[in-house]
Amino acid sequence: MRVFCSAFGHETNSFSPVPTNRASYAQTVLIRPGDSRMEGPMYLMGVDTIIAKAQESGCELSLSTIAFAQPGAATVRSDYEQLRDEILEDLSSTGPHDMVFLLLHGAMMAEGYDDCEGDLLDRARTIVGPDVAIGVLLDLHCNITDLMLEGADIIVACREYPHIDFDERACELFDQIHATTRKEIVPTSAQYRIPMLAMFHTPREPMRSLVDRARAFEGTTGEGTNEVVQVTLAHGFPWSDFPDAGASVLVTTNDDPQGAASLARTLGHEFFALRDQGTEPMRSIDDTLDEAERILAAAGPGATVVVSDGSDNAGGGAASDSTFLLQACLDRGFEEVVIGLLWDPIVVQLAAAAGVGATLDLRIGGKTGPASGNPVDASVKVLNLTNGKKHQYFTPKQWVPLGDTALLEIEGVQLVVNTIRQQPMHPSAFLEAGCDPWSKRLVIVKSSQHFYGNFAPDAEAVLYCDAPGSLSTDVFARPYRRITRPIWPLDEVDLDQG
Ligand SMILES: [Zn+2]
Repeated sequence: MRVFCSAFGHETNSFSPVPTNRASYAQTVLIRPGDSRMEGPMYLMGVDTIIAKAQESGCELSLSTIAFAQPGAATVRSDYEQLRDEILEDLSSTGPHDMVFLLLHGAMMAEGYDDCEGDLLDRARTIVGPDVAIGVLLDLHCNITDLMLEGADIIVACREYPHIDFDERACELFDQIHATTRKEIVPTSAQYRIPMLAMFHTPREPMRSLVDRARAFEGTTGEGTNEVVQVTLAHGFPWSDFPDAGASVLVTTNDDPQGAASLARTLGHEFFALRDQGTEPMRSIDDTLDEAERILAAAGPGATVVVSDGSDNAGGGAASDSTFLLQACLDRGFEEVVIGLLWDPIVVQLAAAAGVGATLDLRIGGKTGPASGNPVDASVKVLNLTNGKKHQYFTPKQWVPLGDTALLEIEGVQLVVNTIRQQPMHPSAFLEAGCDPWSKRLVIVKSSQHFYGNFAPDAEAVLYCDAPGSLSTDVFARPYRRITRPIWPLDEVDLDQG
């Protein structure tokens, strides 16, 4: 059997001030056939799993573009079209194939394209014809469209947020598409749309139980259906401003469209019922810092509280240069604090020019727009510098280059500033820049949830702050123009009338 695989991902935040172009992909991951990096491991979006499964199954593999950019605004049109067409040309020139795997995000937009995944799948289907099985793996923050469903045989999304299970899902998808190709199953899918814009952390209840319940149907003949092949709880990506933004449940059964529709509807109602219980309580800046002080006073020496500044999470398209929490810590005279990762290449450049040990006046952060607050003007001490060779880890196998970093100190508040925009996902983001976060009383991470698994076990407490910013959870503050109404929480929604 001949297998084709490509990965092309971007989570598009319509309200992000940060443009996305081909260079944005190159800065994160952009590997083309012939690139020596194609030979090495790529612990990304399940790519390695598809490669390994193809080899195990004795398949001949054609690997095309592997591209992923940090979330931001819609991709520049000509760059999107060029990247897309490179993949499609590979698909065409290396074919015919028996199985096609496209590892995508599910919330990708480009200038002139609301639904990049649907566009890519539609064109891929035209090339391979109706009989070749196409499997798609998505991030659960996906807005699944009809065009995507028409183009693919099976679509699955990861189950967990933090997204720790891409490999597991890729493994399942490979087997399902393999079975489809061998005519052992006839995948039939149904989507139940849920008009809601919300976030759900899967380690916490009640979402944990719903994820487990959905999973338990897979491989069974639950609730009067034929075999349930897969169940996806698509959380939606609320910052993509287009008509299909929103959550859904997607069920694939073996040759039983009615069974798929029935189960998707049942789980859709259960998902909607959790709409206001998806995340930990969000606190204002003052309430967050008050609560942190209270916890630290009770815990005594050696304790560290971790605060999520998810509103400035690069992983959702924020600039990661907001100053609201920095300013609040300075105003309160907090010490033994570290904040990261703050994206400010100019500050890194100036600090590097001054050198370790120097003290200089700098204008920090607040540069990309109103969502980043005002810049902080301060006398800053340069504690440490690194020059592009350091990485942070997400899992032991997955690492991300930090770019150049500067560890700065302002009146007892330390800041890790870097040149490649990204969220801190692991304490190594601080350690590699020269700061042990566990030596601090307060660690402020510009991350919504991917930090959680690697920080929570050593933290006295984890608090979620709803500061202003591009990713503030205040749905009413977002200038939506194109989403389909009614949608919760902007409107009252009665699912049964939909
Ligand atoms: Zn995601």
